[in-house]
Amino acid sequence: MSINIAVLGSQWGDEGKGKIVDLLTPHFSAVARYQGGHNAGHTVYVQGRKFVLHLVPSGILHPGVTCVIGNGVVIDPQALFGEIEQLERTGVKVDGRLLISEKAHLILPYHRELDVLSEARRGERKIGTTSRGIGPAYEDKIGRRGIRVCDLFGDRAALEEEVRENVSARNRIIRDSTLDWRPVVEDLLAHGERMRAWVGDVSVFLAGLMRDGRPVLFEGAQATLLDIDHGTYPFVTSSNASVGGVCTGLGVPPRAIGGVLGVAKAYTTRVGEGPLPTELHGEEADRLRESGQEYGASTGRPRRCGWYDAVVVRYSARINGLDALALTKLDVLDGLPEVRLCTGYRTPQGTLTEFPADLRALALAEPVYERLPGWSVPTRGITRLEELPAEARRYIERLEEASGVECAIVSTGSDRGETIVKPASTVAGWLGR
Ligand code: GDP
Repeated sequence: MSINIAVLGSQWGDEGKGKIVDLLTPHFSAVARYQGGHNAGHTVYVQGRKFVLHLVPSGILHPGVTCVIGNGVVIDPQALFGEIEQLERTGVKVDGRLLISEKAHLILPYHRELDVLSEARRGERKIGTTSRGIGPAYEDKIGRRGIRVCDLFGDRAALEEEVRENVSARNRIIRDSTLDWRPVVEDLLAHGERMRAWVGDVSVFLAGLMRDGRPVLFEGAQATLLDIDHGTYPFVTSSNASVGGVCTGLGVPPRAIGGVLGVAKAYTTRVGEGPLPTELHGEEADRLRESGQEYGASTGRPRRCGWYDAVVVRYSARINGLDALALTKLDVLDGLPEVRLCTGYRTPQGTLTEFPADLRALALAEPVYERLPGWSVPTRGITRLEELPAEARRYIERLEEASGVECAIVSTGSDRGETIVKPASTVAGWLGR
């Protein structure tokens, strides 16, 4: 492998990016997260052992790979330390393998309260956030009052002033509450000391690797339809989860991105509120949720489930310039008498084939489905394309045509080994197979 690849979500998240990143990591020198916070939850199984990662890139499970947390990520220091301790307890060495951007913004204790408050204020119109303070931390970043990692090592008086200002603004918002800014500063300085050895200039580090021909994998969290600019606004996350986030969130130029791999489930899920055109209800939804174990890795919330939506993935392919797809969870569809994929949206104005910006238009849209025969032979664990039942292959072919992008990887189970890499595909080329 000599090119740098971005791996990102093509739907509404939870596509199984963790497994795909973990699978590709041995071919890279570093794995770099470019956005999001500890609201992301990547579950990776390695030989039956389960690892849940929130902030630390999934590459950490491979010794020798450096894991980078970019400036586009917002960091809750306590969550980070907790995750590192847990990894170390399970025998994964983190020290010496982690680099955190000095420009990354911090999540402070009052960001969590503000998150809860903002959701409560929206009432019925709530976004369905994880209440971990990520949105308010990004708000402070854009509002130019955020606290960055490098501020913990600079002028103490300047840090005190910033925190005092922020805390008094928060005290004005949260009635009957008077948070003292002093312990906030003390905690921050203590966190800084604990983090110091891991902090550095991510852009310089990545540029150095690339100059030496050592490839980097750019890891996305959440997904394109949750992107702050291109997702189903306002039911989105607060960062650019799509490919543009790689450049802004790590300080790497566009030409550094040699390939883009989109991860998509063989059906669709979303957690939280907002539109989901192919959503199923009742027994059909329960069937997908149970066999796919569709419960959030971060919050345990049940995910909403529906059929594969090719309009969505086509949109993702355009926004991100996807070179290929990694199609995950094909095995979850095993045993269904019929499978469906959505190829367009019927609206009072005619059939939409492009994803609309206006959520009201989306709410009126009726999915146009193509129905295909299901398969009764289990696909779970299959590692060669030709061993898949003919109906499953047919489904993948139609899905590729309708989405306008090739499925170079098909995942047939949660373990690393349960994967098909299509021979002669883009990804096979990247991996030199
Ligand atoms: P991420 O945030 O995109 O990494 O996704 P999550 O970790 O939230 O959810 C993906 C879940 O699906 C994890 O529990 C994975 O172990 C599991 N998974 C990934 N690929 C497959 C697959 O092909 N089949 C099945 N059954 N599970 C899978």
